[in-house]
Amino acid sequence: MLTDNILSRGAVMKKIIQNTLLGSDIQDILIDGTKISGIGAGLVSSHPEAQIIDGKDTAAFPSLINGHTHSPMTLLRGAGDDLGLHEWLTECMWPLEDKYTDEEFYWGNRMALMEMVRTGTGFFNEMYFNPHLALKALEETPLKARINFPIMDGMNPEVGKKQWKDCERFFEETTAPQGVQLGMVLHSVYTDSRESIEWVRNFAADKNLPIHIHLSETEKEVQDCMEAHEGLSPVEYLHQLGVLSQRVVAAHTVHLSETDIEILSDTGVNVVHNPGSNMKLASGVFPYKALRDKKIPILLGTDGAASNNNLDMLEEMKLAALLQKVHTGDPTLMSAEEIFEIATKKGAEIFNTGGGVIELGKEADIILMDLKSPALFPAWNLISSMVYSASGMDVKTHISSGNVLMEDYKIPGYERVLEEAGRCFDRLRS
Ligand SMILES: [Zn+2]
Repeated sequence: MLTDNILSRGAVMKKIIQNTLLGSDIQDILIDGTKISGIGAGLVSSHPEAQIIDGKDTAAFPSLINGHTHSPMTLLRGAGDDLGLHEWLTECMWPLEDKYTDEEFYWGNRMALMEMVRTGTGFFNEMYFNPHLALKALEETPLKARINFPIMDGMNPEVGKKQWKDCERFFEETTAPQGVQLGMVLHSVYTDSRESIEWVRNFAADKNLPIHIHLSETEKEVQDCMEAHEGLSPVEYLHQLGVLSQRVVAAHTVHLSETDIEILSDTGVNVVHNPGSNMKLASGVFPYKALRDKKIPILLGTDGAASNNNLDMLEEMKLAALLQKVHTGDPTLMSAEEIFEIATKKGAEIFNTGGGVIELGKEADIILMDLKSPALFPAWNLISSMVYSASGMDVKTHISSGNVLMEDYKIPGYERVLEEAGRCFDRLRS
């Protein structure tokens, strides 16, 4: 497997984004290493050594935080559309995933990273097989991420035992690069045996690792769980097993009872709204207001590109806001400011990325939006424009930890990744 080592982590050279719109003023942003070290007008003259990034006709925003995705599923984008979750998983996704080799995992990850750079995602919380290949892909495109080792035993503890060993080895052998965190995946209560759930609970507690899980995504998941576990919902079942805590990030959480919401609130679980995927698979509607009113930490996620069908967090913000409004009949629910904050500042706080806002001392995780794009003109309210009219295609420049990953729409190495991912696509459909 060839690599093209375009960029490395921990940029050292000073950079200045010149003449970008930040808030209501045209400013320069000075980046020293990975951090923002100056904001103001005319910084170029006092830092003649700095590399200049042209910010003219752009607006600067923090890059976006994707709370739940499956990166290598970019190769399955468009396969098995218009099916319900369980049929989609068992008849389409899992048979195709069985054909994945290291090549598909690696280039699927690379392709996802290209899409995230292109559309302004600066951090993502991953859930997929072969996390070492996700880490390898991140060497080439140094975004921030949480990469999680997956336990999914198909309800067979004997399969689980092998995965537990692999997991122990992964954590012994792996050091996360700067900006990348490591964690665990429990796929779901319908794909993991009680033994594996308990093993993950103990291992994560011992090593103080986060746990990423699918939770109460469909009505079927809840009903099946209640039948199998003496009337307990997935939330109640996991709570009884002692899994739920502040270290848990639970994706979907669509079908929740009042008791479930109390438990999530009491245990400090973080939840992820995935509106695109939930609508496409007709899973249901995330109970945003009830969760927000209980002050449960809320994230936004795209899910994988096979159920969305893209990783565009700008589009996801719009879907989230529109879904909540039409579902509740309340047009004031989930304002542009609210969902923008969830996808940036609050997401960054939950994942402790060091970014999420453009302020002195923060990580330089910045996107420059193209103010010449029709979607961003006129800018009555730029946050509204970001949520309701812009898309990821309007991101012109993307900086992650001070590394310029895309400048003026150009991403180094994109053609090569497209070519290799195309070869994988040909193999999968043959
Ligand atoms: Zn998912």
